Order: sequence, then C-alpha cells, then structure tokens
Amino acid sequence: PSFNKMNLNKDLLRGIYSIGYEKPSLVQSKAIVPIISGKDIIIQQQSGTGKTATFTIAMLQVLYGLQNKNKSGLQALVVSPTRELAIQINGVIENLGNYLKVKNFCLTGLTNNVSGDKVSIEKKIKLDLKTLAAADIVSGTPGKVVDCLKRNQIDFENLKMIILDEADELLDENLGFKKQIYEIFNKINSKTQVVILSATMSKNILEISKKIMNWDNHIKI
Ligand code: AMP
Repeated sequence: PSFNKMNLNKDLLRGIYSIGYEKPSLVQSKAIVPIISGKDIIIQQQSGTGKTATFTIAMLQVLYGLQNKNKSGLQALVVSPTRELAIQINGVIENLGNYLKVKNFCLTGLTNNVSGDKVSIEKKIKLDLKTLAAADIVSGTPGKVVDCLKRNQIDFENLKMIILDEADELLDENLGFKKQIYEIFNKINSKTQVVILSATMSKNILEISKKIMNWDNHIKI
C-alpha cells in the first residue's frame, strides 16, 4: 500500500511525506479512502496505530483536495475528550496541512488560556473569535463546543463531517460528556458524515451509532 495510490491532492501528499510518513499504517490503508468517499464509519483502533492521521488525511482531502469553491463556515469538527488531545489533533492537522491553506482552530482555551492585563486579554479573545468564525476545521472538547454553539459562535449549517475521537471515553457515563455529545448531535443535520473512533465497541457506541449514523452506507473497520 502507498499514499500515492489514494488519489490525494499533491500538496496534501507533500505534507504527509514531509513529516516522515513513508507508507500508510494498516488503519490508514483501510480507512482513508472510505472516509473520503463520504461513508459513515466506525473505526475500532487503539491509539498508536496512526488513527489521528487517518481521519486528518481524509478530512484534509475532502475539504481542500478538490479545490471546491463552495466553502464557507465550519466544515469539519473533531471532538475529543481532553484538552491535550484536542491540541495534539490540532497540531497534526497543521503538520499534515502544512502545504494547504488550512483554516483551523483549537477550541479549548478560548478564554481560560490567556494571561496579561484586561486590554490584552480582550484583544486576544476578539482575535480568537475572529479566527474561530473563519475556521473550516475545529478541534475541540465537548464542553467548549457546546458552549460556542449556545453562543452562536459556531454553527453546523455547512458541516460536512464530524469526527468523535476516543468515543468510548466521550460516551462514558462517568466522565459526563455524554449529554454534551447528544446536544451536539441534535444540532447536526442528517447529511453530515459521521466518523467514530473508539478503542472498544461498547454498548454506548452502538447506541449512538444507531441514532446518528446513516446505516445505508455505514461500515466498520
Ligand atoms: P496515533 O495512533 O494517531 O496516536 O499515532 C501514533 C503515532 O504514529 C504518531 O506519533 C504518528 O505520528 C505516527 N504515525 C501515524 N501514521 C504514520 C505513518 N503512516 N508512518 C509513520 N508514522 C506514523
């Protein structure tokens, strides 16, 4: 298997090779092309298998690969359970998209990550909101995503795909994100592609996938 055979945009391929990935991992060779084709997918994989790059490469190809002119507003949302993970995913998006004109935003520290005097904090928040409003891709934690939805700082009108990373954690009753995940999905229209990554196939994963995934073209890897 080879990234060259996946029909990827050449600037995306450049990004992949520039960070030293020579050939796709197993999950990448199985899942990238089906995600690009628009299918709803559940990917059952542990971390360390190359799963972040799997959805990131597919997402970048869908958003930027074909130079489609019709783009405005948020088109891809990645939700993950921790701030660290959201930041890490955002970094992978930037690295792989280094030769594309990626407009991304990491939605974890809009207001709690700034220091300095009042004026510079307000300036920073204003700038963040501007970048967020212009973003094609957002990587964030459930609480912040719901917060911004409620404030109308993001909307799902043009959302092409939503990705749940570490979905078993996102839906774990003890962690308290489940309600927020359902709040997010309540706002998403039925045309949005759903990609779920999970280390396990728990009851919660099956439950949400039955509710939100299009079972006509649903595949499990
Ligand atoms: P992940 O499963 O997303 O946590 O990725 C695990 C590690 O594998 C990360 O450090 C990635 O940079 C690395 N990685 C992902 N895909 C590839 C690839 N095709 N070739 C080499 N390393 C990779």
